[in-house]
Amino acid sequence: MSNLKFINNPFDTLIEAVGVLYPEVNALIQFNPELEEEGCTSFYEYPSSQVLIELSTKLPFEVMVETLIHELAHAVIGPDKEDHGEEWELVLENIRCKYNELLELTAQKFGEGNSIGSDVLYLYFLY
Ligand SMILES: [Zn+2]
Repeated sequence: MSNLKFINNPFDTLIEAVGVLYPEVNALIQFNPELEEEGCTSFYEYPSSQVLIELSTKLPFEVMVETLIHELAHAVIGPDKEDHGEEWELVLENIRCKYNELLELTAQKFGEGNSIGSDVLYLYFLY
């Protein structure tokens, strides 16, 4: 058991945002240094139904967060809908909105008046 903990890990915040909006979504996410694309979502049906999201490790950090939002929107709408279509755009925007909302809450929670101080928090807001 460790006492080390990220208090503003954007990936955790993003996972939380999708969990609130789309609790039925089920996916594994992995960093892949070999990946040619920025990100990739694969839908497997055999031997069991599973969604795998892969993220390139060659991306700047804030691009990685945005890429994960992009891929999570694919995971939410599923393999049978139009890629980057209207429904996908709507889901993308919903996730981005909820993510920013939760980041604001994190900023307030660990902001001014909190025992850990107010100047060190670095957050990635996406608009
Ligand atoms: Zn895409």
